[in-house]
Amino acid sequence: MDEALAEQIKAAAGAVADAKSVAVTCHVNPDGDALGSALGFALAAAKAGKEVVVSFGEPFVLADSFSFLPVEVFVPPDQFPTAPEVMITFDAADRERLGELSVPAGAAETLIVVDHHITNEGFGHIDIIDPGAAATAVLAFDLIQELGWEIDADIASCLHVGLVTDTGRFQYSTTTAEVFRMAADLVESGADPYLIGRMVFENAPFAYLAVAAAVQRRAKLEVELSLVWSVLHDDDLAEAGLAPEEVEGLIDYIRIAREADVAVLLKQTPEGTKASLRSRAVVDVGSLALAFGGGGHARAAGFTSNGDPKETIEQIRGYLREH
Ligand code: 5GP
Ligand code: MN
Repeated sequence: MDEALAEQIKAAAGAVADAKSVAVTCHVNPDGDALGSALGFALAAAKAGKEVVVSFGEPFVLADSFSFLPVEVFVPPDQFPTAPEVMITFDAADRERLGELSVPAGAAETLIVVDHHITNEGFGHIDIIDPGAAATAVLAFDLIQELGWEIDADIASCLHVGLVTDTGRFQYSTTTAEVFRMAADLVESGADPYLIGRMVFENAPFAYLAVAAAVQRRAKLEVELSLVWSVLHDDDLAEAGLAPEEVEGLIDYIRIAREADVAVLLKQTPEGTKASLRSRAVVDVGSLALAFGGGGHARAAGFTSNGDPKETIEQIRGYLREH
């Protein structure tokens, strides 16, 4: 670990250790890493005797696939303190990603930002940001260890969910020997990889199959741009009777096409068209997403556009032609 990062972890541990209460959050529409890091840290803090509140911005709903974790600990965002003593954010690349909890973030006495997105410029008093970390859960684990807090089976399970989701089940380029060492520690502390794998990855409602089929059937390959893309329509969800948080992971059905470096899935949402971006090796989709007001990593990123899916894919084509 580099020295500057170790210093930030020490500073954060000091601030947390001195505080009576901590307010914990993560980005809106939490994925496994956001949820696992925030919940894991909150449980560890409570176990260590802190007063803890953990929440995330609206919509305050979680996919069923996380219900095997102690998610009942989360409180709705209107119960979050307006001016926390110490507030800590996990996996949020910028303040806007906190939704309405960006307001208490601005009022916190001490704001600690824990994240691994390369596009994160830092928005806390203390920033633990490591773009090299495979998951924010790695940094949450480092911070818990720095604090000398105990990791029980629930905490280990939360952190393991972050690790396994953000490494693509220990597959992406960020999967180092250190990542496997951390996984081994978590399993020793009681995380069950078999249970977590089934709950997180093999736990879709039957109707998901039809939605995935529709998205795959609609996929277009544009060889000259090394691009494969598809769209998830509002109607797909309505017909299947599924909620938006029940259809995570659809991009994984598109990105497997070997002819393309870049894979895009466009989802119609009330906020606009949400683009999920992945790349194999060449295009830095984090920079692409940043150019359109989003962010992420070189190989996985996203943004939301005001345009419809047709306009959004044209924006992406324009960027790919120029880069
Ligand atoms: P996904 O496509 O799975 O929603 O997101 C892929 C990656 O891009 C994740 O690391 C996620 O945090 C990041 N990401 C997705 N959408 C946005 C966005 O609108 N803004 C920022 N800053 N990051 C995003
Ligand atoms: Mn995330």
